[in-house]
Amino acid sequence: MTLQAATKGRVLEPADADFEPASKPWNVAVPQSVAAVVEATDADDVASVVRYARKEGLTVAVQPNGHGASGNADGVILLRTKALQTIEVNAAERTAKVGAGVSWGQAQAATEAHGLTGLPGSAPVVSVVGYTLGGGLGWFARKYGLAAHSVRAFDLVDADGNQQHVTADSDADLFWALRGSGGDLAIVTAVEYGLYEAPGLYGGALAWPADKAADVLATFKEVTAQAPDELTLWFGRLEIPNGPPPMVAIQAAYLGDADAGQALLAAFDKLGDPLQDTRQERTLAELAAITNDPTDPSPGKGRSSMLTSLNDDVTETLLDGSLAPLLALQLRHTGGALAAAGPDAGPHGSIAEPYLLYAFGLPLSPELAAGISTKLDEYEAKLGDNVSGRKPFTFLTGGESASDAFDQPTIERLRQLKRDRDPANVFRSNYPVLD
Ligand SMILES: Cc1cc2nc3c(=O)[nH]c(=O)nc-3n(C[C@H](O)[C@H](O)[C@H](O)COP(=O)(O)OP(=O)(O)OC[C@H]3O[C@@H](n4cnc5c(N)ncnc54)[C@H](O)[C@@H]3O)c2cc1C
Repeated sequence: MTLQAATKGRVLEPADADFEPASKPWNVAVPQSVAAVVEATDADDVASVVRYARKEGLTVAVQPNGHGASGNADGVILLRTKALQTIEVNAAERTAKVGAGVSWGQAQAATEAHGLTGLPGSAPVVSVVGYTLGGGLGWFARKYGLAAHSVRAFDLVDADGNQQHVTADSDADLFWALRGSGGDLAIVTAVEYGLYEAPGLYGGALAWPADKAADVLATFKEVTAQAPDELTLWFGRLEIPNGPPPMVAIQAAYLGDADAGQALLAAFDKLGDPLQDTRQERTLAELAAITNDPTDPSPGKGRSSMLTSLNDDVTETLLDGSLAPLLALQLRHTGGALAAAGPDAGPHGSIAEPYLLYAFGLPLSPELAAGISTKLDEYEAKLGDNVSGRKPFTFLTGGESASDAFDQPTIERLRQLKRDRDPANVFRSNYPVLD
């Protein structure tokens, strides 16, 4: 049997005219040289492709779009799930079930109509399933935890090509693993997750000239030290090559009414006139406009660190000198429900670190890519013991592995599950647990 005979979907191989664009990831800086691309049409089709791969001794990597591409998909069958577009909202039960091709922007538009929200991150084009399988650390994580912790069930295809409905009761081990360790154990065709009432949303972005950076960071530290879990703040430094002068920014989202949100952010009003202030009452659909993340395919190279403290050594490092050749540095306030999660919640367990740092640049040439790596190394060295050493799975980057996200007992448990559930290594996640 040929691959084309195993699927109702389009198959593209290297000789085909459209192969090149179809095989590339959203992060265009990540090299990817796959053997074939399959655009699956539905869950049955996914199962059929898996059975074919299993029989032929081939490997399948799922990539709805490639936001999280890591450069390890060479030689695989690349499975695109864009056609799996189911969105079912059960407002009475406060749940949504979405297919593996649905983006957060689409899912939120459907649940917002009922005054309900899921737990998206900053980018509306990221897939709900890919983000959630990696944990998913979004704007409302301080209030409700990782997106993965709200999952009720997964519809999936296992390594034998069988379709299963997996819940905490039906398969506790697999359910635990899928809530944070990525896509190394199964292909998820749909996820069902709990929704939350959104009483209101207030937020936006503030920006000042870079010479205010020390004051803005000090105020960020003061406000985050007392913030209720409904409030999430991100501090940022931005240096756009050949763009406007360097800036310092605050991005904020508050789950509640505008007056309370304004009061919680009042300390920033004392810092003088900002260059930009987009704080306002928002609809859930306008959440993504707080950061305006790129939606078109873009190059990016970054690294994350979980900070155990925002002490003077850390703030000095974050404020020191130019970012170049980096584009931006972003410090997210974590804590709240992330810290309160128990070990059964999923492989991340409790995320007790109070801040997450993400620094990145645009690797537009090999020289720039090398310069970005050097600068990221410098930050890591300077932050020293103030970094906990593990990272959220969805913030891993090329060159890192799943073992950078989890402690030793957790990675051992995941490896055992991989050996038990996918002994032939049919599935290859962007960050495989056995690496
Ligand atoms: C602009 C931008 C902003 C982001 N913001 C946030 C944020 O705020 N918070 C956060 O936590 N993360 C964030 N991320 C990271 C993002 O959540 C991860 O990269 C996530 O893995 C992307 O999922 P995807 O399916 O869209 O990407 P893809 O690269 O297509 O998939 C990523 C991986 O997920 C697995 N996968 C995807 N679908 C399936 C499936 N159906 N079955 C099995 N495995 C599957 C595969 O292993 C795949 O390699 C951001 C990324 C970008 C590019």
